[in-house]
Amino acid sequence: MSVLVYIQNFGSKLKKQNFEVASYGSKLAESMQCPAIAVVMGTMEDSELEKLGNYGISKTLKVTDEGFNTLINKLFTQVVQQVVVQEKVTTVIFPDNNEGKAIAPRLSVKLNAGFVSGVVSMPVTLEPFIISKRVFSGKALAQVQINSPLKIISLAINSFGLHEAKTVNQIVSFEPKVSVDDQSTKIVDRKIHSEGISLLDADRVVSGGRGMKGPENWKPLEELAKVIGAATACSRPVSDAGWRSHEEHVGQTGKIIAPNLYIAVGISGATQHVAGISRSKCIVAINNDPDAPIFEVADYGVIGDAAQILPKLTEAVKAFKGE
Ligand SMILES: Cc1cc2nc3c(=O)[nH]c(=O)nc-3n(C[C@H](O)[C@H](O)[C@H](O)COP(=O)(O)OP(=O)(O)OC[C@H]3O[C@@H](n4cnc5c(N)ncnc54)[C@H](O)[C@@H]3O)c2cc1C
Repeated sequence: MSVLVYIQNFGSKLKKQNFEVASYGSKLAESMQCPAIAVVMGTMEDSELEKLGNYGISKTLKVTDEGFNTLINKLFTQVVQQVVVQEKVTTVIFPDNNEGKAIAPRLSVKLNAGFVSGVVSMPVTLEPFIISKRVFSGKALAQVQINSPLKIISLAINSFGLHEAKTVNQIVSFEPKVSVDDQSTKIVDRKIHSEGISLLDADRVVSGGRGMKGPENWKPLEELAKVIGAATACSRPVSDAGWRSHEEHVGQTGKIIAPNLYIAVGISGATQHVAGISRSKCIVAINNDPDAPIFEVADYGVIGDAAQILPKLTEAVKAFKGE
């Protein structure tokens, strides 16, 4: 019996979200009195993989063939399926992101296993296995029971946090009985979008809404982000209008983030937006409407014109840093 954690390979590096999924898996394994193990596809140095041991992973199976450096949904599902059988896995944990969404439902069908997506906490009870997930834009929690022997869950990113539990992590190669050449489709080209500081991992985020008036006004927001080492984000209408990339869209239908600091500039604070940022530790709102709903969730508010406030804030930070 073991709990298997799916570790996404970010260009041969691990990210905070990998450690969060590992933390969750090892806590769950502890309560089930079994080991937490991990599987990772593609090339990654052992010195990088060893870090998973800091979060309770006692064995990592690596599939090092270069053909596994790019996600191929069907192929990766087959590999995880083989690991589940070999390691007598009872619970599989995926990140609730694009990669998890591509593999977890397929695995669920192949292994006839119950699957709950977007869980936010440890199971309420293990027998029966009942677990909570957010519904209605995070306004309510649903408790879902999984009845199948194998359970698959995907963890909402930034919902559980990191929990250190130092363990020796044994790294072993896994030779899958499938290869890239068996696949009916082949990825022939890949363009990687570089987003600077990754939004999902960022400690600080500066985000712009329709109150920024147009894409030509984003420079002061980007300058503030640069001086405080923040990632940039935006509301949905902003990315829908093509002012900013959809990669930056946060909220119910975008990314769900939980930075230490979220600065919302010209964002009204609609429930669908707040659903993606409400777990931020400190929310600062800049808005010229004192009645804007964003002030109801903000820890600090500045009432005024973003175009005037942003440069002043940047100058103040620079002066504070002695730049
Ligand atoms: C099913 C569904 C899903 C959705 N999912 C999302 C989602 O994931 N993310 C998301 O963001 N939205 C989402 N929306 C849209 C959401 O309902 C809001 O329409 C949207 O969040 C509003 O974006 P905004 O705050 O940028 O714009 P607005 O609501 O237009 O707000 C602009 C704000 O800027 C302020 N402002 C104007 N001028 C200035 C100035 N000069 N200086 C400072 N402040 C100024 C205004 O007072 C106002 O508060 C969704 C909607 C639906 C129906």
